[in-house]
Amino acid sequence: MRRPLFERGVMDDNCIFCKIIKGEIPAEVLVENESAIVFKDINPSAPIHYLGVPKEHIATLNDVGAQHAELVAGTLRALAEAADKLGVAESGYRVVTNVNRDGGQEVFHLHLHLLSGRRLGKMG
Ligand code: 5GP
Ligand code: ZN
Repeated sequence: MRRPLFERGVMDDNCIFCKIIKGEIPAEVLVENESAIVFKDINPSAPIHYLGVPKEHIATLNDVGAQHAELVAGTLRALAEAADKLGVAESGYRVVTNVNRDGGQEVFHLHLHLLSGRRLGKMG
């Protein structure tokens, strides 16, 4: 078994999502795999709102490289599993990531929002 990513020095001590991954801050974790965790958003924008967070500190989607392929695929798998657990895999859901100022990004550790529980409007 590979060592957890946070033991391989790819975490940021000042990052709130790194702290959640390390268990230093509590969160309602629904799914966890080797690459990512999925936990409930503290301030939901939809009846169902979870965050899929890779277990490596990557600031934004702009910083994703080929070396992150497994990590990103694992994050998407964790989100699909979360949707299944939440019972919305068939009815539907949205996965979105905000990037920098115009994207409305507030936490600079890459994360994908899983939104569902109501009919979501058009994007934009
Ligand atoms: P962003 O705006 O960066 O795309 O999204 C950050 C999200 O993280 C927001 O939806 C916000 O509610 C959520 N969030 C921020 N701090 C915490 C926290 O400490 N715990 C949890 N569960 N969610 C958080
Ligand atoms: Zn982080």
